[in-house]
Amino acid sequence: MRLGHRLASGRGGARFASQIKLARREEFIAPVARLLLNMDDRFAVLSIMPEVEDGRVPWSAREIEAIQGTLLRWFRSHARDLPWRRTRDPYAVFVSELMLQQTQAATVAPYFGRWMEEFPSWEALAEAPLERVLRAWEGLGYYHRARNLHRAAKEVCAKHGGRLPADYYKVLALPGVGRYTVGAICSIAFGMRLPVLDGNVVRVLARLANYRERVDTAPGQRQLWAWAEAMTPEKHPGDFNQSMMELGALVCARNKPACLLCPVRGFCRAEDPCSLPNKGRRIATVPLCEDVEVVVRRGRVLMRCDPAAPRWPGLWQFPGTGAAADAAPWHEERFAHTRYRGRMRAWLRPARKAAAHERWLTASELATAPMPAPHRKLATRVEGMLLGDEAGRP
Ligand code: SF4
Repeated sequence: MRLGHRLASGRGGARFASQIKLARREEFIAPVARLLLNMDDRFAVLSIMPEVEDGRVPWSAREIEAIQGTLLRWFRSHARDLPWRRTRDPYAVFVSELMLQQTQAATVAPYFGRWMEEFPSWEALAEAPLERVLRAWEGLGYYHRARNLHRAAKEVCAKHGGRLPADYYKVLALPGVGRYTVGAICSIAFGMRLPVLDGNVVRVLARLANYRERVDTAPGQRQLWAWAEAMTPEKHPGDFNQSMMELGALVCARNKPACLLCPVRGFCRAEDPCSLPNKGRRIATVPLCEDVEVVVRRGRVLMRCDPAAPRWPGLWQFPGTGAAADAAPWHEERFAHTRYRGRMRAWLRPARKAAAHERWLTASELATAPMPAPHRKLATRVEGMLLGDEAGRP
């Protein structure tokens, strides 16, 4: 039985009937919108209202209503005071959501504040050179998000007059926006009833339902999206979505869920919360050795910036080199980058001619050039050397 039929026949069916209409209408609109908006094949996998894998909803309509009300009240009294929660400005919401992809709120908070000061509007961001945008993003990692944000600002200015349209498909068509992000932006900024499903929501839903199937498979994802959709209220969907994420971040934590403090423990069916969600085998980390050279000449250092580099494209880096087996590195550090666990080693090398994509940078250029975190640490030391600071010397 389809989810909609089940809900419509149970208690509160009248209220859910409107949700069924919404799902069908959007299923009907999607192919038309694809044509109109010239959408790429993301639509093929991101259709807004998926088929329900398993018609069972683990909570009654009354329980869902109670969970919604409980979480909304809890969110209003317990939510962290994060800077992007003080506004509904679509630009601020968009920036925060792209920053929050793959990064925790506590890390994002200071970046968000600085970003909004430097690029306070779509126009300011669209007009800024990419290098300045990447420099402002430096340290957050996953730089494709900064590039997407920059491209999105250009599109919003060029196609939508500098205002984010309150339109699901137009927001989804912007760079860097997938199904989770469009749900978060449209529900928070425009009050649209759309679900979200990030890592925190997956964990909360899987535990509330005691869902023991794999969540990282297509059927698992369809099931969870369907439950997230069934959970999302018509009133205050943005606050509700944030309450689910906040519950996952603060209470229903990965290793130590604080069940005694949980506002929805009365509805939770988890028998062994720590074993959920079931993600199958974790992706193994890959060791990586980054060997580079530090080449200094007349107060400048040789740096490389390749827009088509496989790793960190468009960011300034020290040129790669073969390891010197007979000499200890001048600088060494460890770093993590996506699934890589890396070790960076640097050797001082004599001056040579600059190759393709290489340039001699002064100390001040080095300070403002965007670069990945391990290279920044090395650059800070080299900067000291260029300025004659003893701390930079080997
Ligand atoms: S009762 Fe425990 S496992 Fe269930 S949702 Fe709350 S914190 Fe998570």
